[in-house]
Amino acid sequence: MMTERIFLSSPHMSGKEQSYIEEAFTTNWIAPLGPNVDAFERQIADYVEVADAAATSSGTAAIHLALELLGVSKVDTVFCSTLTFIASANPILYTGATPVFIDSEEKTWNMSPVALERALVQAKQNGKMPKAVIIVNLYGQTAMMDELVALCEEYSVPIIEDAAESLGSYYKGKPSGSFGKFGVFSFNGNKIITTSGGGMLVSNDVEALKQARFLATQARDAAVHYQHSIVGYNYRLSNILAGVGRAQMEVLNERVKSRRAVFNRYVNELGNINGFDFMPELEGTYGNRWLTTLTLNPEKVKTPPYELIEELSKENIEARPVWKPLHLQPLFEGCKFYAHDENDVVSERLFKQGVCLPSGSNMTLEQQKKVIENIKHVIGVNNFSIHSAE
Ligand SMILES: *Cc1c(COP(=O)(O)O)cnc(C)c1O
Repeated sequence: MMTERIFLSSPHMSGKEQSYIEEAFTTNWIAPLGPNVDAFERQIADYVEVADAAATSSGTAAIHLALELLGVSKVDTVFCSTLTFIASANPILYTGATPVFIDSEEKTWNMSPVALERALVQAKQNGKMPKAVIIVNLYGQTAMMDELVALCEEYSVPIIEDAAESLGSYYKGKPSGSFGKFGVFSFNGNKIITTSGGGMLVSNDVEALKQARFLATQARDAAVHYQHSIVGYNYRLSNILAGVGRAQMEVLNERVKSRRAVFNRYVNELGNINGFDFMPELEGTYGNRWLTTLTLNPEKVKTPPYELIEELSKENIEARPVWKPLHLQPLFEGCKFYAHDENDVVSERLFKQGVCLPSGSNMTLEQQKKVIENIKHVIGVNNFSIHSAE
């Protein structure tokens, strides 16, 4: 009999979600918006230490609203991390603007300040500055914010921080998501906490978030009759789903601790395999370790990542490659790309060598042992370079 599948990252309910949903039903707040939405927004704003938060139907919608609020249109360019999920950049296309992709650096796998600086210098020479820079915090690891923020300030380009994967992470004591003009979170089913689907736009600019709420509810003018002067969207979060979010926020810190424990167990058991390099944690930062990720050095590990993923899948274990860089996606063919180093495109190497391991906060010890044993088995039969553990 086939054992239960071990997922990369599956929803982990606390048990209190249904009491908030029940509240919505009892009071008949079965609508977008309502008391659960208000409370959930407050929780996030307080946690991230920003002035305000606006709940949205998805993280993608929140990024789109951020771009709209910054006035991005089809004549503009927007810089974006290349090593990320497609949702970071799809909203650039919604506005008609042109994306420009920025490579990663080694230490965080996130946007390279070196590549960003070259892109900004050239943009200035060309007399066409980007309207925004979308900085992604991959797999819960915050980017090199001091350097990136300094550059964006020097060139006066606003930051949208895509913190969809990094809720609960900190950079030098400051919450992830609070570094840009706007920050974005996602509560999709596979994220560190979930509402099944949903997102959040955060900012210290309270007026801008008022405008975000206006745009997200069809941009209806202040009139008794239905009057509209600009394009709007239907992007707000349901009051039922926000109830799930309220209960999830109460256990966020526990979820971060569990994910970090999962990571540490992998490192303890597999860290001494020659050629296995786990995603580092930048000094002074605290990551939520949403997904445990590592690279397999092809000179030392004979099993390529895709083969490891395939073998694990046969054992009903879900592992995945690292995101395929967006500058390599057919959708973005022809878009400009700035490498960290022309001779070593970091994002492409991470993609070729990277693997994401099952990392759910609800994964049992037994399940993790099974993953570890299977990895040792797959690597062991093809590879003789494992250091003896003393
Ligand atoms: C999940 C994710 C998003 C999008 O969030 P949705 O809520 O699924 O729309 C955006 N950026 C990154 C990096 C993500 O991982």
